[in-house]
Amino acid sequence: MSRPSSEGAGGGKPGAVKHGGSGGPAASAAISVAAAAAAASTGVSSLPGPGTSAAAPSFSLTVGGLQSPELTALFECPVCFDYVLPPILQCQAGHLVCNACRQKLSCCPTCRGPLSPSIRNLAMEKVASTLPFPCKFSSAGCLLSLHHSEKPEHEEVCEFRPYTCPCPGATCKWHGALEAVMPHLMHAHKSITTLQGEDIVFLATDINLPGAVDWVMMQSCFSHHFMLVLEKQEKYEGHQQFFAVVLLIGTRKQAENFAYRLELNGNRRRLTWEATPRSIHDGVSAAIMNSDCLVFDTSIAHLFADNGNLGINVTISMC
Ligand SMILES: [Zn+2]
Ligand SMILES: [Zn+2]
Ligand SMILES: [Zn+2]
Ligand SMILES: [Zn+2]
Repeated sequence: MSRPSSEGAGGGKPGAVKHGGSGGPAASAAISVAAAAAAASTGVSSLPGPGTSAAAPSFSLTVGGLQSPELTALFECPVCFDYVLPPILQCQAGHLVCNACRQKLSCCPTCRGPLSPSIRNLAMEKVASTLPFPCKFSSAGCLLSLHHSEKPEHEEVCEFRPYTCPCPGATCKWHGALEAVMPHLMHAHKSITTLQGEDIVFLATDINLPGAVDWVMMQSCFSHHFMLVLEKQEKYEGHQQFFAVVLLIGTRKQAENFAYRLELNGNRRRLTWEATPRSIHDGVSAAIMNSDCLVFDTSIAHLFADNGNLGINVTISMC
């Protein structure tokens, strides 16, 4: 077992970053869809003929000679170019705007007419339900088209969704490709200490610091980089807790090849947590929200702490 080296952050203090916010989820980058922008055809008046609503559940729907990309283009929001999906509401003159934009607007972006009272467009909703809509990240390479009800769920886990900066605290707004995450961390978060080896000690100093505090450090082993995060926060008011988790700088699939163990040990006591590392694609906040990590309260922390410093043994293995 190797002790933490003091390379990087001064005095072996593993880049304690204090943040004020309550650790809300890092806003995922809103990427507008450029996909179905091809040929936004005009003058669509033809209705589906009796033969077009064929029973085959194939998604190569054609209505009145229009291919589905042209049809989906009709659902583009004029403000954000994302799709207008059910419930579909229109202005009094019949213009559509997506529900997200609608909440920020006081009048119709097309005719400046009133947006309320809302008028529901059930016919467009029915058409939307027969169409496959491209994933939001199609411009990044995702080839999937899905029923609108399945889109949000897929986009949450889409492999082509840009990676956000894995540092907790959501103060860094960086996002980009997986390959760019490590260069970003080394460039923009130089204070984070890295330790080599599969068995290390993550030393969190000054755990009594008031307020929400994060301790972050990197561990390199098995040709991969892991981010170790300890967060102190009040998930429930008046009840301060510590949350410790290991994230892989990699995809969910890659994360499945590893297991990690966190262990507090000392004063004739031991507390252990074992799990699969989370991909940074999932982030820290989801782990904390679901308590899918090592969770302990301040009293337990004090049982293991030494002079206000808490050492967590971290072991990563391949499985
Ligand atoms: Zn919109
Ligand atoms: Zn309008
Ligand atoms: Zn996708
Ligand atoms: Zn960052």
